[in-house]
Amino acid sequence: MTDRSAVVTRFAPSPTGDLHIGGARTALFNLLYARHTGGRFLIRVEDTDRERSTASAVQAIFDGLAWLGVAADAEPVFQHTRIDRHREVVAELLAKGRAYKDFTIAEELEAERAAARAEGRVVRSAWRDRDPAEGGDRPFVLRFKSPLEGETLVDDLVKGPVRFQNKELDDLVLLRTDDTPTYNLAVVADDHDMGVTHVIRGDDHLNNAARQTLIYQALGWTVPAFAHIPLIHGPDGAKLSKRHGAQAVGEFAGQGYLPEGMRNYLARLGWGHGDDEIFTDAQAAEWFDIADVVKAPARLDWAKLNFVNQQYMRHADDARLTEMVAAVHQSRDVTITEAGRARLAAAIPLVKEGAHTTLELADLTAFTLLSRPVVLDEKSRKRLDSETLARLGRLHDHLNSEAQWDAPSLEAALRKFAEIEGVGLGKFGGALRSTLSGAASAPDLASALTALGKAESLGRLGDALSQPA
Ligand code: GLU
Repeated sequence: MTDRSAVVTRFAPSPTGDLHIGGARTALFNLLYARHTGGRFLIRVEDTDRERSTASAVQAIFDGLAWLGVAADAEPVFQHTRIDRHREVVAELLAKGRAYKDFTIAEELEAERAAARAEGRVVRSAWRDRDPAEGGDRPFVLRFKSPLEGETLVDDLVKGPVRFQNKELDDLVLLRTDDTPTYNLAVVADDHDMGVTHVIRGDDHLNNAARQTLIYQALGWTVPAFAHIPLIHGPDGAKLSKRHGAQAVGEFAGQGYLPEGMRNYLARLGWGHGDDEIFTDAQAAEWFDIADVVKAPARLDWAKLNFVNQQYMRHADDARLTEMVAAVHQSRDVTITEAGRARLAAAIPLVKEGAHTTLELADLTAFTLLSRPVVLDEKSRKRLDSETLARLGRLHDHLNSEAQWDAPSLEAALRKFAEIEGVGLGKFGGALRSTLSGAASAPDLASALTALGKAESLGRLGDALSQPA
């Protein structure tokens, strides 16, 4: 039984570009499990590939995590700074007789590969049993001396017990010819030194867990608990790829999802707490347990993501949404004046219920930022015949005398006007809408008038009246 108060989890990304949502979910699960157990969550940047691990690739991972609100409990560990320690661990394995120098040259390796294939067995270097002195000063790699018999059990917390026949595991390289450590060695050394108790990661690493287990055992170290979570698939059940849409966390941000909505959605991707769809971070931490991680691959479901995000949009602070939506408008080259910003801010609480994302909220509020005179499309212009224009003129005066400029009062004022005119709202509603918002989408008339404010509403209405028909 693991001492649950001492749980240490980690997220160990290889910086190769953006933070993918699969990685983001892995990070989140590690964070939630640490929070659930009162343990600690760490981040290790697996940057031993110095060519791919550029500063910008590393930054992209940090930016993605920061946006998502997934923060570690300590400074990140950079794997490349630990190379001396990795070499030390290999030396220890060598001293214990659990590693050997392999001087095989390329041609010999080819021949052994062919022989192994023909005999249906894994590749074994002849140097496993040879005297290293015979290698002289030729270049060599250091290989792990994997047991030839028996089996290795990975008692996975998600997959259940998975058994590997040792004879099917080859002697993996620990240290390359250039003295650099390989992934499996570095991971074991780092997880051990960081005190990691639970390795929660994508199930593409399940086979590595067997190899890593053998290295832990050879060193006499405690093997951490493993939890290999199924990968995220696209809505069609196929492995997630570009054709399914957004992949990187940054793309989801760009599509107008809120970080808290994304966190909630990602937590539900492969894990659940009954039928609860919407929950707080605290509830997620309270409820999250590896035992409840689903064995089948989770499917990305855009409709569900939109639904979840919409719930968060509804509860999001209006000033914050205004900031975010203003940024979207600006990215669309819309100029925002001070008055325009006030109209935008007024519109947000009136229309946000209907928006799944901040991009949709930008579409729904675009009418507030139109510059005057509002450009009318062909259809709207046709609607403004002399009878309608005369009626809009009377409506202008009617609204001008309206002292209370809020949605309920305006709603009543519009009804009253229809009554006075002896017509239905439909007789002037569409025309009023065009004068206020042109071809842009707008909420119900009372809300649109409220968001625009009295001066702007009457100004736009007046523009339409003075425009040549
Ligand atoms: N760096 C590895 C990756 O990004 C993960 C290693 C691990 O979690 O053990 O796939």
